[in-house]
Amino acid sequence: MSNFKEIELSTPLHNAIQDLGFEKPTPIQEQAFYVIKSGKNVVGISQTGTGKTLAFMLPILQGLKFSKENHPRVVVIVPTRELVLQMEEKVKAFSKYMNVRVLGVYGGTNIKTHKLAVSQGVDILIATPGRLYDLALSNVLKLKMAKQLVIDEVDVMLDLGFRFQLTNIFELLPEKRQNIMFSATMTEEIDSIIDEYFIAPHKISIAVSGTPLDNIAQQCYPVHNFYTKVNLLAHLLEDKETFSKVLVFNSSKKYADRLFNALEEQYGNEMGVIHSNKSQNYRIRSIEEFDSGENRILVTTDVMARGLDLDKITHVINMNVPVFPENYMHRIGRTGRAEQEGKTILFFTEKEERYKTAIEELMDYKIPQLEFPEGVPYNSQLTPEEREGEGKHKNHNRNDKKIIGGGAFHEKSAKNSKVNLGGSYHRDLAKKYKKRKTRGDKKQNNKKK
Ligand code: AMP
Repeated sequence: MSNFKEIELSTPLHNAIQDLGFEKPTPIQEQAFYVIKSGKNVVGISQTGTGKTLAFMLPILQGLKFSKENHPRVVVIVPTRELVLQMEEKVKAFSKYMNVRVLGVYGGTNIKTHKLAVSQGVDILIATPGRLYDLALSNVLKLKMAKQLVIDEVDVMLDLGFRFQLTNIFELLPEKRQNIMFSATMTEEIDSIIDEYFIAPHKISIAVSGTPLDNIAQQCYPVHNFYTKVNLLAHLLEDKETFSKVLVFNSSKKYADRLFNALEEQYGNEMGVIHSNKSQNYRIRSIEEFDSGENRILVTTDVMARGLDLDKITHVINMNVPVFPENYMHRIGRTGRAEQEGKTILFFTEKEERYKTAIEELMDYKIPQLEFPEGVPYNSQLTPEEREGEGKHKNHNRNDKKIIGGGAFHEKSAKNSKVNLGGSYHRDLAKKYKKRKTRGDKKQNNKKK
């Protein structure tokens, strides 16, 4: 299937795709079309950026006949409000020339508006799990006509604690339906849901175009503590030309806020922040301002930024090292999309070094390390969590090291910081993410080893 003409698409779909300028199906679109069309249950392991929305919407839209039914025949569940809005926009674009009613509903807004919208009739309903469940309980929304259920970003949904709502929703849906599920990672919990609710699903697994890491240049800096990381980031951001669209990841919303506050004076007028404690309007505005280029910097957390389809990010900066290596993959996958050369920088403290090693073992690639830049001041201020950690260290009678900004800890033998990557799950991950050794980076890479 080299171009869309080879799939027997209806004229309205064909025209919509032409309007969008898509020339040929992406690998997941190729793999998913006939399987989904056949009505089988499908589980896709695939990240955003691979074209997965069209992969499931194309066969669904193709099969959707005109009906006078007012209750939704297709239900799409996504974890966050932002994703509802993005999905709604995409599905409306795909179904532009069709007579299909598409509606997005999400929590945090007045449910009355959604009840009214649902009561006017909808064919494809896109929803967050909580709002969907509330609407179904209120009886305004009936799920008995839903023939197809799509659950997107299942891993994030479970991270956010939506298992209960999900399984409750399953109970309200007709038993005879097609289930389509997408996740960026596979976990035991997802596996158990599949076992319990999905009959004989067809599995599709796709990495981001080719090897996801091939078009992303990676670097790292050893840094003593959080507030010195802030100084380093502030220093890097001074180069506005190079760092023109920067996504900055933090371990938690607390740290995202701390970073935002620390940088506000210097960069407040070109920086936004998103995390789950921010109001919905604030989040939407922050994303829009960043995507349009009005803001140069977006501060975020793992869960918030997952799945967002942001364009042309020049740098992904990691203020911390993710404890789960695959989260690093998700973060850096925000840059270097669609054949563009992306860049990512990781700041790590001594305590975080073992997580960095785990990531490197997963990729089979040692991230080139840079010297801590001269002139960037060291900040001795510690966050409450760091202070707590220090206390623990003191009990271990650790020798104090002289640390200048970046610190001396990186000289520690790599052997000591080796992390056992565990069993087959990690081997599978490694297969997916292993960095090819044919890159120009290799020389630099080996030098650092
Ligand atoms: P998704 O993974 O669904 O979030 O899609 C990622 C991006 O790829 C979106 O901006 C889509 O508009 C775009 N896209 C989807 N399918 C294609 C295609 N066949 N050719 C080019 N771009 C596409």
